[in-house]
Amino acid sequence: MDIIEIDKAFVANTYARSPLVATSGSGAVIRDENGKELIDLGSGIGVNCFGACDDEWVNAVETQLHKLQHISNLYYTEPQTELAKLLCEKTDMKKVFFGNSGAEANECAIKCARKYSSDKYGAGRSTIITLDNSFHGRTLATLSATGQDSLHVHFAPFLEGFKYAPANDFAALETLCDGAVCAVMLEIVQGEGGVIPLDKDYVEKIAKLCTDKDILLIIDEVQTGNGRTGTLYAYMQFGLTPDIVTTAKGLAGGLPLGCAMLGDKVKDTMTAGTHGSTFGGNPICAAGALNILSRLDETLMAEVIKKGEYIKAELSCAKGVKSVTGLGLMLGIETERDAKIIAAECLEMGIIVLTAKTKVRLLPPLNIKQEELEKAIQILKGVIAQ
Ligand SMILES: *Cc1c(COP(=O)(O)O)cnc(C)c1O
Repeated sequence: MDIIEIDKAFVANTYARSPLVATSGSGAVIRDENGKELIDLGSGIGVNCFGACDDEWVNAVETQLHKLQHISNLYYTEPQTELAKLLCEKTDMKKVFFGNSGAEANECAIKCARKYSSDKYGAGRSTIITLDNSFHGRTLATLSATGQDSLHVHFAPFLEGFKYAPANDFAALETLCDGAVCAVMLEIVQGEGGVIPLDKDYVEKIAKLCTDKDILLIIDEVQTGNGRTGTLYAYMQFGLTPDIVTTAKGLAGGLPLGCAMLGDKVKDTMTAGTHGSTFGGNPICAAGALNILSRLDETLMAEVIKKGEYIKAELSCAKGVKSVTGLGLMLGIETERDAKIIAAECLEMGIIVLTAKTKVRLLPPLNIKQEELEKAIQILKGVIAQ
């Protein structure tokens, strides 16, 4: 039996997988079991931000692997401590909680927002407003936070205390902000929802409303974070000072790590015993993240913006393309043909692209070589044009 057949027999059937068995890679190139090479415009889903097996990153992770792989969070390790310090220095956030994923980062944010409010105002101020078409994770709490009716099936009862507002409609959100609201949670660019950036003016108004009413502003940067949109975090382009920022996907360059960064108001809200994780922030993942974070500098961010503009310019007026949205190297392409069919044909043609809702989605490695990018975009253009 081949891998795909064995997978179908033994792995829970929760993914609509594409027929690629990935065995190795280097940079933006992924190899399958037959040695075929593909150019990767997905980075996992925005995870391998320096591509596959980047030398410096491998070295950083391997060095830590030979020192110590794990110790309980009841003790200290240098990589975790250094990573928290670096994240705070680069963001002006004050403290960091580490988990293993985006959903866990958001769980922490939800718990922290509710505790902040109950500490200060007592019970009954626990509602969190999120946006229609948002995506915040697959656990029951983060699924409840996710504003998509199609995902609110099968698993009832969902967690109470979430209300959903249509994106980019400030009046609608303001109406929902009654005395029971403790937080607003949003993605600056809705990723899974179809790569849709929020209007700057809308987000600014929300930030002001939140400050005025002592409602916490939680920015979900699980997908937009870690250089993906051309700044370290996307909220930085919007001039915001969030109360909580969550991130994961690209944070450790391919290892499972997520975190909730806590701002001034909530830096001491979570106390001993109120939250935890066995693996969160373990030294291996932290060492990987330290390497990634220290390399997301201005030069690289300028490259990300330039490559994003290149892709937009190539595709905006291309045959079969209706629109291109997104920021930096997080792009959604609305096509005349079905996006899933385009992605399947691309795979056959030797490039990996993702989809989001009805769009083709691109999240290439941040340091993809220009010639690889050009080659892949020409192939993609050809497939879209058919
Ligand atoms: C992927 C994603 C999540 C969930 O992250 P997991 O690591 O899969 O739990 C949450 N929020 C956003 C915006 C995401 O893109």
